[in-house]
Amino acid sequence: MKVAVVGLGIAGLSISARLALAGHDVSGFEQFEPMHEFGSSHGDTRIMRLTPGEGETYVALARRAAGAWRTWEGLAGQPLIEWTTGLMAGPRGSPFVAACQRLSRKPAALLRGDAIHPLTRGYIAMPYEWDVFRQEDAGVIAADATRAFLLRQAPRWGAKLHHKARIEAPIEGLTLNINGEARSFDAVIVTSGGWAGKLLPEFAGKLAVKRRVVGWFETSEPKLLPVICADNEVGVFGMPAPRGFYKLGLHAIGGATDPDNVREPDEADATLLSEQAVTLLPKHNPKPVRMQRCLYTVTPDENFIIAPSAKHERVLLFSACSGHGFKYAPVFGEMAQEWLAGVPSRELEALMHPGANINRLGAAKT
Ligand SMILES: Cc1cc2nc3c(=O)[nH]c(=O)nc-3n(C[C@H](O)[C@H](O)[C@H](O)COP(=O)(O)OP(=O)(O)OC[C@H]3O[C@@H](n4cnc5c(N)ncnc54)[C@H](O)[C@@H]3O)c2cc1C
Repeated sequence: MKVAVVGLGIAGLSISARLALAGHDVSGFEQFEPMHEFGSSHGDTRIMRLTPGEGETYVALARRAAGAWRTWEGLAGQPLIEWTTGLMAGPRGSPFVAACQRLSRKPAALLRGDAIHPLTRGYIAMPYEWDVFRQEDAGVIAADATRAFLLRQAPRWGAKLHHKARIEAPIEGLTLNINGEARSFDAVIVTSGGWAGKLLPEFAGKLAVKRRVVGWFETSEPKLLPVICADNEVGVFGMPAPRGFYKLGLHAIGGATDPDNVREPDEADATLLSEQAVTLLPKHNPKPVRMQRCLYTVTPDENFIIAPSAKHERVLLFSACSGHGFKYAPVFGEMAQEWLAGVPSRELEALMHPGANINRLGAAKT
């Protein structure tokens, strides 16, 4: 089948690679250069959690993804995930922390926040009043290395990847306008992240595009620290980053933005991040040495949207909604293949019909 994939962030790359491997004639289109930093998928690291507190469907997806990540690592010839363990935390009674504990295959007791300090040799601290669940099956994904791997691998499997190829909005059927040229396909999969609402306006009301900023803090700890996902008022998350840094971001802070006009990180962002670093990262300099901005594309309940267009059943919106999508990347290609073949897995069914099968999240963590 002749398939167009619109947008080559992590979702579009995974889908292009997998569909080409399955024998489809795949053309992937990306408006920017390879490895650009304007969407949601750039940066050195992302958090991996095999037991996401977001619910059973996401746990099933993450476990499915784990095997596929190992295949990707074999093909890439390098590790793409480092298993560091994780600290899922939040004020006492946090539903997110309770869900992590409930869904875990090793449901250990919750800890009080101050128990973390000795466990991390004083490099991470949390308030006594917080609940903490130590999640063993968590780690960090080498995000840019994964994108670079897929940019090499997808063409090896036959996908034709076109960069600096902007698809004109709106998409209304199977004919796309690409830099002024019209081309027709048998199916179109729209993986355009923050731009999805522009390309498929029928979904715009369900997709809010938000600016987020992450900051890197110098660490003198030579061992890898655990990742952090906290259900506090700013939704702070943290992870080790290469070359002696620990990275923090704020899941719940940052306003709506136009994806074509995003404000660069500034002093106000540094102050917000530093406030979290002072508490969470003793023994670190609380001033970020570097910051980067990124886009979240969020639905009202923070679940993914995977849905055919009302205008054409062979046009699919595939939005790995940006708060927490990277870890599932290898499964995106598999789910696109299921959709084309008309044989959805339980996970795809659940994500395509969220009302019936998955809960409101509202507190999703990266
Ligand atoms: C700060 C931050 C931290 C995160 N942390 C984590 C984490 O720890 N763990 C985790 O699992 N997930 C995390 N995520 C979420 C994860 O990164 C996203 O879910 C994922 O990257 C979304 O990928 P995407 O391919 O859907 O979107 P994108 O990467 O934005 O890709 C969309 C692409 O479409 C292209 N495009 C748009 N319009 C057009 C057009 N008209 N023509 C051609 N191309 C077009 C864009 O240029 C872009 O390259 C984080 C996200 C952010 C922003």
